[in-house]
Amino acid sequence: MTAIPFHDRDGVIWYDGAFVDWRDAKIHVLTHGLHYASSVFEGERAYDGEIFKSTAHSARLIRSAELLGFQIPYSLAEIDAAKAETIRKMGYADCYVRAFAWRGSEMMGISAQNNKIHLAIAAWEWPSVFQDKAKGIRLMFAPWRRPSPETAPSAAKAAGLYMICTISKHEAERKGYHDALMLDWQGRVAEATGANVFFVRDGEVHTPIADCFLDGITRQTVIDLVRARGWRMEQRRILPDELYGFDECFITGTAAEITAVAEIGPHRFTPGAITKTLQEDYARLVRRKPIEREKPKRAKA
Ligand code: PMP
Repeated sequence: MTAIPFHDRDGVIWYDGAFVDWRDAKIHVLTHGLHYASSVFEGERAYDGEIFKSTAHSARLIRSAELLGFQIPYSLAEIDAAKAETIRKMGYADCYVRAFAWRGSEMMGISAQNNKIHLAIAAWEWPSVFQDKAKGIRLMFAPWRRPSPETAPSAAKAAGLYMICTISKHEAERKGYHDALMLDWQGRVAEATGANVFFVRDGEVHTPIADCFLDGITRQTVIDLVRARGWRMEQRRILPDELYGFDECFITGTAAEITAVAEIGPHRFTPGAITKTLQEDYARLVRRKPIEREKPKRAKA
């Protein structure tokens, strides 16, 4: 991956309705979004020139802003079109897309009722987040927990919620791990710092209920893929002590796609047939290729 800093690259960024040179896409230092985290964003991927589930991402961006009390001054269709145009202008077939909205600088206090709402969209090449996608990455338990939905707007993809993710991920990397697994405020398994988590046992797939963390678009896609294979899919509370009983584990997210997990704290997993099949199914789905499946066997009555 290139080490060129993000502020000093070639290309264009869609900024409040027009394309500006990449290096000119600036904000003032006295911006509410920077000081008070009144900022929401999306991470998306385009495959063969088309963003996977673009409209679902645009809808979540609008919803995230609403949860923070502001309205993005562009419609769903306008955001979708702006993202498609950004990729086209950048000339990418496969890329990562970042759409983000924030409160501007008209007022600088907790209250920012009159601040202008900005929207920007940038795209760049980001082939793979983890090198060990098939072999499995190593996670430690995070020092921070996902907050209760009464403490933070946990359904929003809001910048402020990433503070504990960055602290946790930095600590994991310092200790030689790839990422951290966060528990929720009640001590149950929640998610990784930027991806949801799934477990496999006896041919069944289990994932925590997404009621205090992001119900990822990849998570929802993988749940559909599991069911389409005819495998049992359980969304339930999972306690950290249960992890010893699972055979496979993987994380899901737009950036991480489906990445196998080999280790969480003292627990070991072996990436197996279910992880591999889902990785292949997902890779085909995002490129709009047909997935060949045997007819799922009907469960016995
Ligand atoms: N949880 C967190 C904290 C994330 O940052 C992400 C990535 N957006 C996800 C889950 C997965 O979401 P998605 O599949 O929609 O990318």
